[in-house]
Amino acid sequence: MRIAIAGFQHETNTFVSTPTSLTDFEQADSWPPLLVGEDVLETTRGMNLPIAGFAAAATKHDLRPILWCAAEPGGKVMTSAFENIAGRITHAIKELTPLDAVFLDLHGAMVTENSDDGEGELLSRIRQIVGPNVPLVASLDMHANISKKMVDSSDALTIYRTYPHLDMAETGARAFRMIEAIRRDGRPEKVWRQGEYLIPLHAQQTGAGPARALYEGLDEFDGPGTQLAEIALGFTAADIHDTGPSLVVYGPDRTKAEAICDTLSDRLSSAEPEFDCPLLSPVEAVRRAKQAPDGYPIVIADVQDNPGAGASSDTTGLLRELIEQNAPPTLLGLLHDPSLANAAHQAGHGATFDATIGGHGPGDEPVQAKVLVHHLSGGQCAYTGEMYGGGVATLGPSAALRLIGSQIHIVVTSGRNQCLDLAQFRHFGLEPKQNKILCVKSTAHFRADFEPIAQDVLLCAAPGQFPCSLKDVNYRNLRPDVRTHLEG
Ligand SMILES: [Zn+2]
Repeated sequence: MRIAIAGFQHETNTFVSTPTSLTDFEQADSWPPLLVGEDVLETTRGMNLPIAGFAAAATKHDLRPILWCAAEPGGKVMTSAFENIAGRITHAIKELTPLDAVFLDLHGAMVTENSDDGEGELLSRIRQIVGPNVPLVASLDMHANISKKMVDSSDALTIYRTYPHLDMAETGARAFRMIEAIRRDGRPEKVWRQGEYLIPLHAQQTGAGPARALYEGLDEFDGPGTQLAEIALGFTAADIHDTGPSLVVYGPDRTKAEAICDTLSDRLSSAEPEFDCPLLSPVEAVRRAKQAPDGYPIVIADVQDNPGAGASSDTTGLLRELIEQNAPPTLLGLLHDPSLANAAHQAGHGATFDATIGGHGPGDEPVQAKVLVHHLSGGQCAYTGEMYGGGVATLGPSAALRLIGSQIHIVVTSGRNQCLDLAQFRHFGLEPKQNKILCVKSTAHFRADFEPIAQDVLLCAAPGQFPCSLKDVNYRNLRPDVRTHLEG
């Protein structure tokens, strides 16, 4: 088979006003920079990415990589950026035609300045080029907000089944198997249904609880042939019509696909009360962490300041509380503050200076403190955890600082980057196991690498740009029948 492959990933937080530009897609961050042609395969080989998993499963075929890019989650994608990247993909597909199939590595929650459905727009443009008979399959993040246009324009969508996303490559491989099955057995019937309620991301983790039960039950519906059932739990920081969970079921037999969708729909409905997952205030979270027995660290997740969900990663609510309660040995990361990182580099290793720390966003204030420069780095940090191991975090010029008069170390970066891997502290000469409290600006991805060394995880709702308490969010554009929180 001659298969065109491309990747274009963005998770858009519509509550963030700073738009996402072409430069944001071109530069490296948690993932590689924009890759073109054969570089797509060479750079991503072996990584936990859908396009890498697809390529590894399709080695016997004639793959034609076009481009792959992803920007750190953030505000709406600028129309100019979307048109540039989508235009390069569609132009290349025209040039490569005739094709036997097309595979796209997408997120599924992209909102652009003039479309609430970036992926639906891209998929429909490609469908118009390749026609109805060329299999068009995309992989999606489980935080996709799936639209009718996405389902109608594609032959199948495969979706991650873990959060932290440990199965991104496997989801790409499943997309390849679906293309093979479609080529053999014909296009499947599709059944798509949206859920009735939104699920906050901090309650979506699949290591335990209701999401684990939902996803564990999916395997029983895989195959034979084109039969496949997938679930997306949705991205709640998007105020659009299609926000929330979706079920998509494929197969040769429409009646059977509908019956599977009914089963999954019942499971999703009955899980609603279990997704009620309370959050602690910063005062309570720090107090509980201090009271915990010595030994393994306590992780406090600053769930609303997660840059991996579009937040600024520089809020100070939790830091202030650590200082106020005179915290025991504590690490906090990753605080996005390019001017502070630069000031640390100017001061030099071992120097002390008066620092202005974070708090640049609306409603926040920087923390003023005297700090010691513990470690400096250019910011190329090799991940070692299960989720991103084999890849490199591009943090930009960065530093570890100790707040003088305290036992608190902060890792400050020039790029926005989610704290989800122990290497992001160890790179700076800081050993997580030797600290009582680990504060991570992450909602759930940190769990893969941090939970094995932690005695407990506390979810903390300090102010941030990624709202997790959905009853407090002022949505305007949701479907009228979707619930944003448990009734009563
Ligand atoms: Zn995700």
